[in-house]
Amino acid sequence: HAKRAGRGSCQFFSADMNAPFAARLWLENQLSQALERGELHLAYQPQVELRSGRIVGAEALLRWTHPQRGAIAPADFIPLAEETGLILPIGEWVLREACRQAATWRAAGLPPLMMAVNLSARQLRSANLLERIDAALQASGLPPEQLELELTETSLMDDAEAARELLGALRARGIGVAIDDFGTGYSSLAYLKRFPLARLKIDRSFVCGLPDDGNDVAITRAIVALAHSLGLELIAEGVESAAQREWLLALGCGGGQGYLFARPLSAEAFAHRLAAD
Ligand code: C2E
Ligand code: MG
Ligand code: MG
Ligand code: MG
Repeated sequence: HAKRAGRGSCQFFSADMNAPFAARLWLENQLSQALERGELHLAYQPQVELRSGRIVGAEALLRWTHPQRGAIAPADFIPLAEETGLILPIGEWVLREACRQAATWRAAGLPPLMMAVNLSARQLRSANLLERIDAALQASGLPPEQLELELTETSLMDDAEAARELLGALRARGIGVAIDDFGTGYSSLAYLKRFPLARLKIDRSFVCGLPDDGNDVAITRAIVALAHSLGLELIAEGVESAAQREWLLALGCGGGQGYLFARPLSAEAFAHRLAAD
């Protein structure tokens, strides 16, 4: 009887229903070493003034190149990094590297730009976030006015009171805060006015339907009106066509980011674009 039970439990752990679990464990283990193995780097996507196409900013986007698996998409490892807490050391590296890169371009005489860095909910909840931000700015020498942090509505709503305090401290330093993927998270518009924000980023899913989808036009129009009346800057994500650009301009959105202007670029390619701009 005991033997049968033993065999049963053994079978349980070898059945392929556990393959996803094993794969996850493997990925987690690899991710925990990715930083020290030098497998992470940042790509930079231009943020432009829609009217002129001039580059005014860069969004730092994390890239992981695994020696065997090759490029692993952020969607496939950032949620895991958040669940395991690995996003804390990785996110700190992103912050320091992005600040260092922006300061390097500045020192090289390239036009100054806003460096936008994504922060996860987990980072937002970590006690020493402000100290880490201060340290990244100090180590790089980047002026705080050139740093913008991208947060989601949902992560702000997690602990709205703490978030409001943090945003106040960032505002006092001159650091900008943008709401990423605006319109897709859980939030109450009432909170928006209580947060010191600089910018809303209109989610790609709304831009995608311009100009044919009447609902997307209506939502984009409403977001633009909301931003204008709250005194917030705007940038549209995922601008892929000239028609979308025209519509965004007509609706009153000043900034854009997307494949129409540039894909996320290596630091070298970005610097070339910036120098030629
Ligand atoms: P996000 O912050 O909303 O970043 C924009 C995403 O849209 C990027 O995907 C970018 O490559 C993609 N994109 C830009 N323009 C276009 C376009 O015209 N069309 C289409 N279809 N896509 C476009 P990516 O690099 O795969 O990043 C995905 C998400 O991963 C980001 O979404 C962000 O939430 C997260 N992420 C990336 N880097 C970091 C990081 O350093 N820290 C944290 N916490 N999250 C990050
Ligand atoms: Mg972002
Ligand atoms: Mg976004
Ligand atoms: Mg997005």
